[in-house]
Amino acid sequence: MTRKDAITREKMIEILTPEGYNLKEFRGNGGKTKHVVICDKGHEYECCYENFQRGYICKLCFIKTEKDMIELLSPENFKLKEFRGNGVRTKHLIECPNKHQYEVSYNSFQQRHRCGFCAEKISFRRRRNKIIC
Ligand SMILES: [Zn+2]
Ligand SMILES: [Zn+2]
Repeated sequence: MTRKDAITREKMIEILTPEGYNLKEFRGNGGKTKHVVICDKGHEYECCYENFQRGYICKLCFIKTEKDMIELLSPENFKLKEFRGNGVRTKHLIECPNKHQYEVSYNSFQQRHRCGFCAEKISFRRRRNKIIC
């Protein structure tokens, strides 16, 4: 084993901690050794140092099903019109509370990207109020 490959428990923890991930089981030094890791949502999975460094996050967090999408939309009164496949970046067709239909991915909606038509209306009203005042 070369020095470069020596990934200690400390090094593994060091890379996981900023992401909110925890090391459950350390299985030995080495960049390709798979350790048991717990993600910030409490999912347990196996990941090696090298893959994590390349951005391999928890698969369970990455896969967003139709149920996840509905759960995300429902509290905001948005409806899922067309589900187009699992994944945080898949764009689905949804409907806002004012019946506008548009496309949005799980990630974007979670980052508070809301209906563009409604946003436009609000800013238009604001602009108009400004003129009146
Ligand atoms: Zn997870
Ligand atoms: Zn709208």
